[in-house]
Amino acid sequence: MIPITKPLLDDSEADAAAAVVRSGWLSQGAQVAAFEAEFGARVGAPYACAVSNCTTALHVALMVAGVGPGDEVVTVSHSFIATANVVRQCGAAPIFVDIDPLTYNLDPDRLEAAITPRTRAVLCVHQLGMPCDLARILPIAGAQGLAVIEDAACAIGSEIRLDGQWSPIGTPHADVACFSFHPRKVITTGEGGMLTTRHAEWDHQFRLLRQHGMSVSDAVRHRSDQVVFEDYLISGFNYRMTDIQAAIGRRQLQRLTGIIARRRELAGRYRELLADIPTVRPPFEPDWARSNWQSYGVGLPDGADQGRVMQSMLKMGVATRRGVMCAHLEPAYAAATAPPLPASEAAHSRTILLPLYPQMTHAEQVTVVGALRMALNAEPALGDAFCAVA
Ligand SMILES: *Cc1c(COP(=O)(O)O)cnc(C)c1O
Repeated sequence: MIPITKPLLDDSEADAAAAVVRSGWLSQGAQVAAFEAEFGARVGAPYACAVSNCTTALHVALMVAGVGPGDEVVTVSHSFIATANVVRQCGAAPIFVDIDPLTYNLDPDRLEAAITPRTRAVLCVHQLGMPCDLARILPIAGAQGLAVIEDAACAIGSEIRLDGQWSPIGTPHADVACFSFHPRKVITTGEGGMLTTRHAEWDHQFRLLRQHGMSVSDAVRHRSDQVVFEDYLISGFNYRMTDIQAAIGRRQLQRLTGIIARRRELAGRYRELLADIPTVRPPFEPDWARSNWQSYGVGLPDGADQGRVMQSMLKMGVATRRGVMCAHLEPAYAAATAPPLPASEAAHSRTILLPLYPQMTHAEQVTVVGALRMALNAEPALGDAFCAVA
């Protein structure tokens, strides 16, 4: 069986976790601080704050951006549901705009029309690791005085060219970027998230919100030779990352450059192999973006049945996933008003994600593309024309 993904972990991560257990300090200690510093340095951000996952990162990012009850946040429906849920968790309404069908990301041509006097922020997503068009989104939001929050859950190690300069996602182009370390992402701590920003005051607020609004961090209190009484300045949450997770994250970060290089090599291989099935559309990478290929999505030809293609590939030992979900199609958002989102819906129902992980072999990639070809050949609607190509 070829799985959709496989985290790259070994004794190095296991030993790092064990060392934390032996140290006796398991949360909000030296490992979390070191992971934050190393992560910030890797992505070029002056401030990095670790939290329990990317959903909690997005929640505190929106709160600190001032999003509250009655506000609107412009975002995409075509994303993991957490993107829309966190807007609602602030008491605000997500306003969905359609995606660019080529990049699967927020279509900047549609952004301005979605902004109203109630709009407080733009929550853009670097979907599947492909950078969204910040060069166009930032000036539109900036002209209206709106905060821009990047949902970079999938985008650690992806790069974007802005003003002629390449930099990693997480460099403070927007106000804040939020990352995930879930096992489905490119590096993992089991569960975990990170916020990067250039605003010192925002970073301070993130730290308060993740730890019950407490005025003194555990590290400061522990180091002090004076008795310290803390205050609770705002009503916060428990969104902390543990030192066990952070120690694993530090090892994962050391692998990141190698993982990205390997993922790009595999993506290049897929593109070559897929050239033999011209009706299948490989992913599009704009010349100002370099994906980390967190996922590799291909567009199926007209007439192919997504579920049936996936099922026959599964029978041939190849796991796939359907295209990114659309929040507005889920029962939880049935009552939300959304304009027609044809590109989002098409990407959801006509794309499948192929297996991609650093340990993947060339032979496995050949098997995946062969299984896709055979599954498409068996599609009744595609007929003889398709078989002739294959
Ligand atoms: C995975 C994901 C999230 C949620 O991340 P968690 O760390 O699981 O909370 C949010 N947004 C997008 C686009 C994601 O892919």
